[in-house]
Amino acid sequence: MEIKKDIQSQQISKIQAVGYRNFPMVPKVVYGKGSFDQLGEILMPRRKNADAACIFLVDDVFEGTQLMARLPLIFNDQVILISADEEPKTDQVDALVAKIKKEYSELPSGIIGIGGGTLLDLAKAVAIMLQNEGSASKYQGWDLVRKPSIYHVGIPTISGTGAEVSRTTVLLGPDKKLGINSDYTVFDQVLLDPDLTEGVDKEQWFYTGMDCFIHCIESLNGTYLNAFSQSYGEKALELCKEVYLGSLCDSEAREKLMMASWHGGMSIAYSQVGVAHAMSYGLSYLLGVKHGIGNCLVFQHLEEFYPEGVAMFHQMRKKHGIQLPTGICAQLSDDEYDVMIKVSLGMEPLWENALGKDWRTKIGPDQLKAIYSKI
Ligand code: NAD
Ligand code: ZN
Repeated sequence: MEIKKDIQSQQISKIQAVGYRNFPMVPKVVYGKGSFDQLGEILMPRRKNADAACIFLVDDVFEGTQLMARLPLIFNDQVILISADEEPKTDQVDALVAKIKKEYSELPSGIIGIGGGTLLDLAKAVAIMLQNEGSASKYQGWDLVRKPSIYHVGIPTISGTGAEVSRTTVLLGPDKKLGINSDYTVFDQVLLDPDLTEGVDKEQWFYTGMDCFIHCIESLNGTYLNAFSQSYGEKALELCKEVYLGSLCDSEAREKLMMASWHGGMSIAYSQVGVAHAMSYGLSYLLGVKHGIGNCLVFQHLEEFYPEGVAMFHQMRKKHGIQLPTGICAQLSDDEYDVMIKVSLGMEPLWENALGKDWRTKIGPDQLKAIYSKI
C-alpha cells in the first residue's frame, strides 16, 4: 500500500514538474565599488576582431562626466548617448538596430547598456534584434525570439527595477506595452558597481527603489509564491527596510539597494508582480507615466490589498520627505479611464498572482476606476 502511494506521489510530482519554469540566470556577474574599471578586461575576450565593435548605449545624463572617460573604447567602438526621459519604444529599438547595421559591415562584438532600467532594456532589445528579422514589436510577448541575441552586458547606474537580472525587456509598441520575454533577453554579463549610482537625485532614488520594494510586497503576498521566490523576496525586503528606514551611511545604502534590486528581480522571476504593477501599466500606457513613480502613485492607495506594505511605504515616504504628485487622473474622460482599465485587466497573470484563480470575481472595472480616480 505504502509503495503504491509512493509511486503515485512520484507520478504526481513528475506531472507537476513538467509545468515548472526552467529559466535562465545571468551567467557572469562582477560586483564591487570601482569594478567599472574592469570592463575593458571583461570585454577583451569577447571581441571578435577589429571590425566587430563594442557598442555602448549610455544614459545621456553621463554626457561630459568622468564616466565617459572611463569607457574602454578601442578600434571602431561607438558610444550612443540616449535619453531616459521616455521609456523605451519598439521603433527606437528598430532605429538603433538599423543605424548599427548601416554603419558596420560586421555585427558588433557586444552591446553594453549603461544606465537605469530604460538603458538596460534598450541594450537587451538591441542585442536581440541585431540577430532577429523585422521589428521589435513582432517579439513582444512570451518566447517569440528564435535566434540567440549577440553578447550583451548590463551596467545599472540606479537601483531598483531588477532589469539587470530579468528575462524581459519592457517596450512600448504601436499597440501595446509589453516585454520581449525570452531566454535570449537575459544579459550575458552584469557589472554591479554601487559607486555608479552616486549621482541619482533623491526623488528618482525613491521611485526606482520603491519599484524593488513593491516587487517584494507583490511577490511575497502573491498566490504564486514558492520557497525559491520567498527566499529572494525576503532578503530584498530586509535590505529595502535597512535602506529606507534604517540609518546607513550613503555608501552602504547604495551597496545594499543594488543588492536589493538584484534579489527583488530574482524573486519575481519565479513568481509574479501584482496589483500595483497591473494598474501602473495602465497609467503608463495612457499617460506615459514612468514605471517607478507610476507604481508609487498606485501603491499608495492599495491598503485593501497590501495593508502592511502600504503602511510601510508611507513610513518610508514620510521619512524621506517625498511628496507624490496629485491630480494625475483628475481630467480624464470616461473613455480614457476605460483604456487604462482595459490595459490593466489585460495583465492576467498579475491579477491571478495577486488575487487567485478566481480573480475576476474579486475585482472589476468599477473598483479600478475608484482607485485610479484617487491618483
Ligand atoms: P530610468 O532608466 O528611466 O532612469 C530614471 C532617471 O534616472 C533618468 O532621468 C536617468 O537619466 C536618471 N539616472 C540614471 N542613473 C543615474 C545616475 N547614476 N545619476 C543621475 N541620474 C541617473 O529608471 P529606472 O527606474 O531604473 O527604469 C525604468 C524603466 O525600467 C522603465 O522603462 C521600465 O519599464 C523598466 N523596467 C524594466 C524591468 C525589466 O525587468 N526589464 C523591470 C522594471 C522596470
Ligand atoms: Zn517593477
